[in-house]
Amino acid sequence: MAARGAKTAGRRFGKISTDVIRINVAGTRYYVVANAAAELGMAASSDDGATDCNVYWIDGPVPLERYLELRSYQKINHFPGMGEISRKDALARNIQRMRKENRREYNFYPGTWVLPADHGVLSQHTARLRRRRQRKTFIVKPHHGSMGNGIYLTQSPDAILPSEKAIVQEYLDKPFLLDGFKCDLRIYVLVTSCKPLRILVFKDGLVRLSTERYSPPSDFNLEQMCMHLTNYSINRHSASFDTDERDDRGSKRTLSSFMVWLHKTGHNVVELWAKIHDIIVKTLILAYPHILHSCTVSRHGHLPNGKSQFFEILGFDVLLDHTLQPWVLEVNRSPSFGTDADLDLHIKTAVIRDALKLANISLSDKLTEEACQRQASRGDLNLTPATPTPDNTTSLLNKLMLQQRKQAGELQRRSD
Ligand code: ADP
Repeated sequence: MAARGAKTAGRRFGKISTDVIRINVAGTRYYVVANAAAELGMAASSDDGATDCNVYWIDGPVPLERYLELRSYQKINHFPGMGEISRKDALARNIQRMRKENRREYNFYPGTWVLPADHGVLSQHTARLRRRRQRKTFIVKPHHGSMGNGIYLTQSPDAILPSEKAIVQEYLDKPFLLDGFKCDLRIYVLVTSCKPLRILVFKDGLVRLSTERYSPPSDFNLEQMCMHLTNYSINRHSASFDTDERDDRGSKRTLSSFMVWLHKTGHNVVELWAKIHDIIVKTLILAYPHILHSCTVSRHGHLPNGKSQFFEILGFDVLLDHTLQPWVLEVNRSPSFGTDADLDLHIKTAVIRDALKLANISLSDKLTEEACQRQASRGDLNLTPATPTPDNTTSLLNKLMLQQRKQAGELQRRSD
C-alpha cells in the first residue's frame, strides 16, 4: 500500500542544541524533506518564525522579500532568476532567442509559439501546412499551467482564440513506447552554484506511463488525455492505472530500471545519458545570465567563504521519440515530492538527502560570517552589511520590484 513519510513535528530551534544544522521547512508541504534532513542529523522546524536557521526549504516560488531577508550565512533551495526556464512561456521565448544564433544546438525543444504574441506567425505556419496539404497535431498548454491542467490537442490551430494565454507546441507524435504506452522521464537535476555553474544529474528518477495504449493522433483520439499525456496527476484517476510497485512494472517506474531494460534490449544507454546531459546543460545556460543578474541586484549569492548561498533541485520532463532522441518538455522548479508509493518515497528521499549533502551546508558558515562581522565592525574589512537593515531592504526591494515590473511590461508589450 501507499507509503508516506512520517510527519515531523514542528518545533522551535531554541530547545535544540546549537551544534546542529537547522532547516526551516515551514515553506514546504512535503514531509519527506524533514525526514531526509533528519537522516543527515539536521534539526527541522515547521515554525515559520524559526528564522535562526542555516537553510530554508520552500516549495516555491520564493517571494523577493525572502531572498532579501536572507542572512549572509543562510542558504535557500532556489535561485532567483530560474523562472526563465521554469515558466513555459519564458522557456519558449529563451529557446526562440537562442535558436536565432544556434539553431542546431537548440533542436531538442519542439517548435513553439507563445500566444497571443505569436498568433500571426502561427497563422502563417498553418497556412503553409495547408498549402502543402500537411496535417499536423499541436498541443496547447496554459502559460502557467502544471500537472496537465488545461492542456488539449488540436489539428486546427486556426481555431485557437487569438487572445488565449497559452503556448502552442508541435506535438511529437512518434514517441518511444514502453509496453505500447507513451512515457516520459522525470530527471532530477541539482544546481549547487551559479559562479561557476555547477550542475549534477541524479542517476535515478521516474518514468511515468500513460494508461491507454498509444495510437498516433487522429480525429477519434485527440481528446483521450490518458493516451497522450503522461502526467501522474491525470493518469492516476484512470481505472487502468497499474499500481504494481516493482521498479520495472506498473504505470510509474524507476528511471534506473528503465535504463537497465533499455540496455538489455540493445539500446545505447551511454549515448542516451550523454544526450540527456547535453540538453540539460544547454537549458540551464538559458537561465544563467538571469541568475547572475538577479544575484547581483539582490547582492546575494555567495557566503563570505565563497560558497553558494543558493541550490536548487529541478525536475526536467524529458520525452523520448521513437529514435530515442530526448526532447525537453518542461523544467519544474518545484517538482512534486509527494510520496504516494514506496518507489516515490525511496527516490525522492534520496534526491533530497543528496541535495542537502551536496549543498555543503556547515555550521562554520555562520561562525565565519560572525567573524567577518566582528572584523567589519572594527573597521578591518570593507564589507556591506551582512544582514539587511530595514532601510537597505526597502531600497533593494524597490529596485527588484522595478526590475520585475519592467520585465513584466516587456512581456506584456510582446504579448499585446
Ligand atoms: P504540465 O506542466 O501541465 O505537466 P507538460 O508540458 O509537462 O505540462 O505536458 C504534459 C504532458 O503532455 C507531458 O508529460 C507529455 O506526456 C505531454 N506532452 C507535452 N508536450 C508534448 C509534446 N510537444 N509532444 C508530445 N507530448 C507532449
